Amino acid sequence: MNNPLLIENNQIIDFNKLSGKDINDVTSYIIERSKEKLNRIYKINDDERTFENTVRSLDNIFNDLMKVSEVISLLAYVHPDDEIRNNCLECTSEFGRFFNEISLSEDLYIAFKNYSETSEAKNLNGPYKKYLKETIEEFERNGFALTKEKREQLKIYKDKLSDLGIQFDANINSYEDFLVVNEYQMEGLPEDYKKSHLQDDLHAERVSKAGGTYKIGLDYPSYIPFMKYSKSDESRKKLAKKYKNTAADKNLEVLKQILIEREKMAKLLGYKTFAEYRTEDRMARNPENVWNFENKLRERVRLKAEKDYEELLQIKREYLGDNSAEIIESWESMFYNNILLKEKYELDNQKLKEYFEVGRVIDGLFRIAQHLYGVKFEEVNSPSVWNDDVRFFEVKEENKLIARFYLDLYPRKNKYNHAAMFGMTPGKKLDVGYQIPTASLVCNFPKATEERPALMLHNDVVTFFHEFGHLMHDLLTKAELASQAGTNVARDFVEMPSQIFENWAWDYESLSLFARHYKTDEVLPKELHNKMIAAKNVGSGLHVLQQIFYGTLDMTFHDKFDPNGEKTTTELVEELQNEITLYKFQEGTHFEAGFGHLNGYAAGYYSYLWALVFAEDMFSEFKQHGIMDQETGMKLRKLVLEKGSTIEEMEIVKQFLGRKPNEEAFIKSIGI
Ligand SMILES: [Zn+2]
Repeated sequence: MNNPLLIENNQIIDFNKLSGKDINDVTSYIIERSKEKLNRIYKINDDERTFENTVRSLDNIFNDLMKVSEVISLLAYVHPDDEIRNNCLECTSEFGRFFNEISLSEDLYIAFKNYSETSEAKNLNGPYKKYLKETIEEFERNGFALTKEKREQLKIYKDKLSDLGIQFDANINSYEDFLVVNEYQMEGLPEDYKKSHLQDDLHAERVSKAGGTYKIGLDYPSYIPFMKYSKSDESRKKLAKKYKNTAADKNLEVLKQILIEREKMAKLLGYKTFAEYRTEDRMARNPENVWNFENKLRERVRLKAEKDYEELLQIKREYLGDNSAEIIESWESMFYNNILLKEKYELDNQKLKEYFEVGRVIDGLFRIAQHLYGVKFEEVNSPSVWNDDVRFFEVKEENKLIARFYLDLYPRKNKYNHAAMFGMTPGKKLDVGYQIPTASLVCNFPKATEERPALMLHNDVVTFFHEFGHLMHDLLTKAELASQAGTNVARDFVEMPSQIFENWAWDYESLSLFARHYKTDEVLPKELHNKMIAAKNVGSGLHVLQQIFYGTLDMTFHDKFDPNGEKTTTELVEELQNEITLYKFQEGTHFEAGFGHLNGYAAGYYSYLWALVFAEDMFSEFKQHGIMDQETGMKLRKLVLEKGSTIEEMEIVKQFLGRKPNEEAFIKSIGI
């Protein structure tokens, strides 16, 4: 078959030759071929089962599928051609269904289970043993250890949950409400915001005299600026109330049903709670570890949060000219925080941008990564790519090609509009050598024109480092099996390599390597850097407490809450918010109904903060030995980035640190 997406032996994809038809052709072909290969695994006699013909064969199938499906899911987001994008979208669903089919294949489960009984299997160790064990566990988490009857019951729960999840999200997305305010209540908002929210353009003339009415929706671009700038406390309170009632008309009931079904499902599978089921295959391992994490952190952060609160209160007193103010209400926090930032931590982001010209940032980031990990990035001239401005690089170590990556940095029509790393070819040991891992970074940075250079907000610089952290994790892998390579790690560990790399976008020593004024070449002044750091830590305690509240709420719903019991979900929100955060619960709100992460994360909201605490702890090694210390960089590469999930994530962290991890570095990092 002659298809640009069907590549063997480390060839590169010729994107110029790709047609819409190729996408569908290669999808059917690779799925058919995988079915045949799966059949071959099923047919092997039990006494002839080996690691090679059963376990590695499955990894080979996954490798075949990933090499094609990952590229297709990338192109679904970035390809400029409508037909290709649409076909990619269609085929991505097809791959999704096929992966699902594999995970529900009883023949495959039996093959693995039977192999696991052999003496060869019993003597496995290291990554092989881990992969076999986890694959069987994954099948059993899908119900294969259950009787046929119970499995049918499980399927009913799962189908119901899938429908409820779709409903929950749809109710949030389709929910509409707004607040109508007058000229006086719009005081404080920028002119362009006012213009775009004016209710009736036809009366513009009358408006200019008597003032008009404005319609404020609950979408972020409407909600956030209003909460930040409107001087009308009453209106912010009303809008916040509407916001925190998103989907409450329908989702209170849907959420209750979701929690009931999740609990039934977990119990059927032999778990005490859904949280126990969910954390089992993650780094946390059990809810207890998450509880300890949240509770300990909450205690440590409280003091900083109280200081932050006091600082806001002071601002409020000054603003109102009233020293008796004792409380910051939840609908006041963004407003006073904004004044605080402006008055005490004035940071001119436009001025700061002048030190972050895109070309210099890329160059600086490359120099840092190349130095730390002992590799070279070499740009390939006139590469075959999906859009003209996409750049292609080879990663070399002592002149040997070890990885490849694409940079798709600038916005264009129909392109994915956030920043993300997309895997394309996983690492894997092949007979002919190591399969060259390949991935893409997709971002939306400003593009330079003839008249003006492209200057980045510092926030975007941090995002770029974050995504590059994921990229290095995916590319520097040395895992033997594709299923364990790169970013194929536990969900609560995957944000570690990305979050640790953000530090190089904050540290003065690394910034001074590339943050230079685009006109004068002057290095970012220390004074400006001090302001950046001070502003970063404004309200950090309150922010982390809020995250702990979300994580604790999510965990409580799935571990310590009876959806059929007396207490309602809203009563729990009220109780936890009053207990954990410093802002009082707002009466008449039902925030949980619009909290989409309860569906998506499901007992996993803790993950981001969890990974961040490890990232900061591991970064302390760099602080100790020097942020540009190559030895420590190589240690991160060898002990963490190369490992994928060949060993337990907690073991990876301990090996890197040479001790048990703790939260000290994180606590310091938020300015305590
Ligand atoms: Zn990330």
